[in-house]
Amino acid sequence: MELFDTHFHLPEEGDLSNYLDALYSDHSYRLLALGGSLAGSVRALEFARKHDNVWCACGVHPHDAEEFTGDIKPFAEMLSDSKVRAVGEIGLDYFYDLSPREIQRKTFEKFLNLAVEHNKVISVHCRDQEERTDAYCDCYSMLKEFAAAAGNGKIILHCYAGNLDFLEKFMEFDTYFGVTGMVTFRKSDNIREILKHIPRHRLLFETDAPYLAPEPFRGKTNHPALVAHTVMYAAHFLDIPMAQLAKQTTENALRVFGLEDLIS
Ligand SMILES: [Zn+2]
Repeated sequence: MELFDTHFHLPEEGDLSNYLDALYSDHSYRLLALGGSLAGSVRALEFARKHDNVWCACGVHPHDAEEFTGDIKPFAEMLSDSKVRAVGEIGLDYFYDLSPREIQRKTFEKFLNLAVEHNKVISVHCRDQEERTDAYCDCYSMLKEFAAAAGNGKIILHCYAGNLDFLEKFMEFDTYFGVTGMVTFRKSDNIREILKHIPRHRLLFETDAPYLAPEPFRGKTNHPALVAHTVMYAAHFLDIPMAQLAKQTTENALRVFGLEDLIS
């Protein structure tokens, strides 16, 4: 089956030469590695250059916004490499608040402008405390501006866990939504409800490895290989053949990352 893990993170340290050995040999995989800092983005790009089926995104994660020097130039240079298909992971995290919100918004804004200038799609992280929607409100208004400048169909909301009202609001920009292994967790009724409401042509799968390993691997280190389990679970839940869902979501990914030529 053709699978596309549209969002994963490489281990921060260590040798990566055997990293892809864990992929199941009965599927064909394509992967997008996300950078969350300058060092992480450089590492993702180096890895992508070594593998035909791997691409990457570069950006600064909201957790790391405070550490960001503000120097966008090295990221701008990376974007000219054809292996870099998106700006990410960028966004707002009001759950952990690891960086002050004002700095998160400033950093996010900078990368949104960068993506507009370079005509790139964005992979966005948005998280809020339970029952709060401040992050979603701020994200919505910033993405509205982004879409006005960049056009529709350029946003991926990764690991979307907001409410259905915001899901609909984000759809105004023809947004793509990433579903992770969380959908397999027993208590994730909200994510299953979201899955039902995402338009099929805007659905993407991802692992967010090394986090959020799907059942039956919950709690273990996640790996892009395991996207297969999430797709299998979702196909069963949506009552459609896995091969059909795998094919359609792979095509969605190839389209959003400007890799249409690879659609078979
Ligand atoms: Zn991530």
